[in-house]
Amino acid sequence: MERWTRIGVLALQGAFREHARVLERLDVAVSEVRLPGDLDGLDALVIPGGESTTIMRLAELYGLDEAIRAFAGPILGTCAGMIVLDREHLDLADLVVERNAYGRQVASFEADVELVDDPRPLRGVFIRAPRIRELGPQVEVLGRLDGDPVLVRDGPLLLASFHPELTDDTRVHERFLSLVRERVVARTPEEVRSR
Ligand code: GLN
Repeated sequence: MERWTRIGVLALQGAFREHARVLERLDVAVSEVRLPGDLDGLDALVIPGGESTTIMRLAELYGLDEAIRAFAGPILGTCAGMIVLDREHLDLADLVVERNAYGRQVASFEADVELVDDPRPLRGVFIRAPRIRELGPQVEVLGRLDGDPVLVRDGPLLLASFHPELTDDTRVHERFLSLVRERVVARTPEEVRSR
C-alpha cells in the first residue's frame, strides 16, 4: 500500500522498535536508519530514547551526526533523543538539558504531563530522564510536569523528555505527524518530482 509519508527511526540503540510500532499503527511507512544513506527519501526522523552517549558514539562512527545535522525534515527526539539534539550535542535544538535529572531517589517513574492545548493529561513514562535547563526564546512549551517543560517544539523539532512510545496514548506521535503533514503538503511540484 502507498503510504502518504515515510519516516525513519534511528536504530543504533534504544527503543527504536517501539517507536516504529506506534508509527505503523498510525499508518505511516517506517524504515530503520543505521547509515547516512538510509536518510534518503525520508520525510522525517525519530531519535529514540536509550543511552545518549552510546547513540552519539555510534552516530559519529557511522557519519550519522553530520547527516542528521544536514537532514531537512522534522525530527522527533524522545529522552536520549532530546539530549542528542540539544546545544551541547548535535546542536539542532535551542535548548540545554541536564541528564538523569529527574527523581534522584527513584530514577524512573510515571506521571501525568499537563498539555497546554488539551485538558486531558498525558501519561508520561520517565526513565532516567533529562531535565531542560535552558530554553531558547522561540521554543514553544507544549507540556509540563510540575511546572517544568517536558514536551517542547522548536520549529520542525518535537522533543519529549519522557517515552511516548511506551504507552498506548499516541498523541505525541500524532502531533509529530501533523508537523510532518504541514511540510509534505507544502512541497512544491519540483520537490515532489525530485524525490
Ligand atoms: N539517561 C539516558 C541518557 O543520559 C536517557 C534515558 C532514556 O533515554 N530513557 O542518555
